[in-house]
Amino acid sequence: MTVLLSFIAGVMGLLLGSFAGAQVWRLRARQLAHDKAAGEEYDTSEYKRLHGLMGQKTSEDRSRCLSCGHTLAWYDLIPLVSWVSTRGKCRYCKQPIGLLEPLIELGTASVFGLFTYMWIASSGLQAFGLILLLLWLAAFVMLIILFVYDLKWFLLPDVIMFPLIGLSLVISLMSITLFSNATLGEIASTTTSVAILGGLYLILWLVSKGAWVGFGDVKLGVALGLLLMDWKLALLTLFLANLIGTLVVLPGLLSGKLSRKAQVPFGPFLILGFFISLTAGHWILDGYMAFTQWLSTVLLML
Ligand SMILES: [Zn+2]
Repeated sequence: MTVLLSFIAGVMGLLLGSFAGAQVWRLRARQLAHDKAAGEEYDTSEYKRLHGLMGQKTSEDRSRCLSCGHTLAWYDLIPLVSWVSTRGKCRYCKQPIGLLEPLIELGTASVFGLFTYMWIASSGLQAFGLILLLLWLAAFVMLIILFVYDLKWFLLPDVIMFPLIGLSLVISLMSITLFSNATLGEIASTTTSVAILGGLYLILWLVSKGAWVGFGDVKLGVALGLLLMDWKLALLTLFLANLIGTLVVLPGLLSGKLSRKAQVPFGPFLILGFFISLTAGHWILDGYMAFTQWLSTVLLML
């Protein structure tokens, strides 16, 4: 039963991943229009391309090929299957679609399947629990959109960020009041978790006047803190985000491909760190505790 439901969640993840991928491009077109209207610098060729493809009101909600603008038929929009059947190329203009779309679909499917499996394995199948699970899955879709958007354009759009903070608050409040005894300790741990993830970035943002981290990272920190509801996991998320960030950036810095001043989006590292903490955090912390205990006994024997 658990496996079947996780599989269904995985298929749902494929469909919502496909939706998330399309949403990223719609948001981008909207952002460019906003930048243009506000008189800010914007990429004119990208604007023309995206608006040429998406601007027509009549077909705004139909997906189009980003290269040739051909309206896509239903059989072009089946997650993964369409991509594999045309070997990653547009059926009409034969331009490569890129790996991003299928990766978003696979990523969402894996997150949905894994999280659902862990959820049901740990809390069973209660009606309230399933509602909460669906809210979590919605939060993951928003996080995936933010992940891709920040990775590509170094920005965490508010159109997604504010609903995510609202949803995280609902998840947090529901978890504390409906599923546990709402002890002072839990409330304090959640508050501290938000203070650690949001507060640290707020300080960094204030001190550097926005040079080291963007205000989007502060807002993301608040949302992730609310979702984690645990100050230890919040600390672990920070640690993992920095570790992953260093591992990704260091080879580029050492080989000279990346200049010291290169812009690096921090959102994706934070979201990755969050997901690892959320799913494996307790094991990592237990392992770490066991390791320090073992280390101290070894040191005492010497
Ligand atoms: Zn095409």
